[in-house]
Amino acid sequence: MSDPISDTFAQQLRQRRADLIAQIREQRGGKVGRAQTTTDPHDEQSGDWTQLNVQRDVELALGERGAAELTAIDSALERVASGDYGLCIDCGVEIPTARLHANPIALRCLGCQDQSEHARGLPAHPSL
Ligand SMILES: [Zn+2]
Repeated sequence: MSDPISDTFAQQLRQRRADLIAQIREQRGGKVGRAQTTTDPHDEQSGDWTQLNVQRDVELALGERGAAELTAIDSALERVASGDYGLCIDCGVEIPTARLHANPIALRCLGCQDQSEHARGLPAHPSL
């Protein structure tokens, strides 16, 4: 179940992801441990522990912004795999292709993006 539009964006996303991973790899001197199991005893009970460490490494390498982008790319690729890519996660309408071109990791249509930014507590100044 793949349509050409998702394929196009999936390619871009994978490329961007590869670039970010390459940056991490450089920072870590050629070692990327994402898929490796650690031997740390703390890891036995909680799979999240490894994830947290990876997240921290990623943030060290890419900065908070880059780490957030990588996370967003991953979730966009999951949505490609599940066939939901390009659909607004709030209202379900198709996100305009132009918007996806500008921002392939967009999760919401413009209207819902606005609302979610207001909902996140950005100060509203209707009279300004
Ligand atoms: Zn929407």
